[in-house]
Amino acid sequence: MKTLILGAGYAGLAVATQLKPVSGLECLLVEQNAYHTFETRLHEAAAHNTRVTLPILPLLKGTGVHFEQAQVEGVDVDHKEVTLKDGRVLTYDTLVVGLGSVTNFYRIPGLAENAAELKDVSHADEIFNFVNRAYSSDYTGNRDIVVGGAGLTGVELVTELAQRAQLLTKARGLPPFNIYLVEAGPKILPVLDDALRAKAQKTLEEYGIHILVGHRLMQATAEDVTVQTADGQQKVIPAGKIIWTGGIQARDIVKGERLEKGPGGRIAVDEYLRAKNYPEVFVIGDMGLALNQEGKPVPTTAQHAGQQGRLTGKNIMRVVRGQDLEPYEPNSLGEFVSLGGLMAVGWMKLPWNQKLAMTGGMAHVMKKASEWKWRNSIE
Ligand SMILES: Cc1cc2nc3c(=O)[nH]c(=O)nc-3n(C[C@H](O)[C@H](O)[C@H](O)COP(=O)(O)OP(=O)(O)OC[C@H]3O[C@@H](n4cnc5c(N)ncnc54)[C@H](O)[C@@H]3O)c2cc1C
Repeated sequence: MKTLILGAGYAGLAVATQLKPVSGLECLLVEQNAYHTFETRLHEAAAHNTRVTLPILPLLKGTGVHFEQAQVEGVDVDHKEVTLKDGRVLTYDTLVVGLGSVTNFYRIPGLAENAAELKDVSHADEIFNFVNRAYSSDYTGNRDIVVGGAGLTGVELVTELAQRAQLLTKARGLPPFNIYLVEAGPKILPVLDDALRAKAQKTLEEYGIHILVGHRLMQATAEDVTVQTADGQQKVIPAGKIIWTGGIQARDIVKGERLEKGPGGRIAVDEYLRAKNYPEVFVIGDMGLALNQEGKPVPTTAQHAGQQGRLTGKNIMRVVRGQDLEPYEPNSLGEFVSLGGLMAVGWMKLPWNQKLAMTGGMAHVMKKASEWKWRNSIE
């Protein structure tokens, strides 16, 4: 069975590392980078230049999976063809698509042109370099940072940046820059319950971060953003760096006459994570629209991408052995949000669907534990 895995993110790499060299299975992993990116730690790289990548090749030892570093340009599931940027066309019997998501700028005027994003290492480098420049003695431009979107990524980024600013202020004797967190919705971190959100909000306030909830980002230029409150009042915030973390959409790369797409362009999948009407195509991670036990879309998180990848890897082995596929049952084990340094908030799942809320050092350890667990599962 000729199998292609596209993307070595949380979903694709979890598939590859589940496979074993068996006769009847020929598998190729295609990824544009020679490394896997720990996307959940990009905010650390943006603030502190932390290394958040791991070379892919050693991770494939013992799996029988071959690796090709190449950029996928298009996937045609009607003709079972994958076109690479260099013009080559790959064919398959079974395809796994795990190419992740891209930033959604929601066509806000000037935003895509003027805002940085935080989806890969180059974005993190851009932010890190700006902060360094802003703290050099000959820098004369605006040093303030506006971050749009107060979900997980936005909050983790502003707290980490605030912590970096404190360190640099101490070391270089320059005043800290202002950090504005702009959010159209009424609250930060809408996925958390009120008590945890209050704790996170307090931490942000202690860092001196300006929290502008209920402020819709209306437009961006190279020098500022315009925000608007629900009652129509507009305000211009000058900024040296604008960063948008306010939304994602599935990477739009797979074409097929009978594909069904849902919110955010995610491809609808069946209970085995196969694209509807295309049983030979698994779509997993941020690109797939899997439903949970209540019929709601499974969140686009690394946790779920990893679970989907592991199941798909096992299911490919089952197909090769002539066994029935195992259905997907999403399991939200918890959620932790880092808030700079050793601070975090979150919850973990207990038996009987109970949740254990945690804040501070313990939550930080849990967040780190989930990262170590992921690393262990692929190494
Ligand atoms: C800053 C930040 C913090 C986050 N924190 C958390 C968190 O704490 N917990 C959590 O669960 N989730 C978190 N997330 C979300 C999580 O990172 C994503 O849901 C997860 O990465 C999705 O996994 P994936 O495998 O679908 O996609 P990805 O991990 O994005 O992998 C996609 C892969 O495809 C490759 N690729 C893309 N296009 C091409 C192409 N054309 N050709 C070849 N290769 C290609 C990419 O290089 C990448 O390796 C965070 C995200 C960000 C940005």
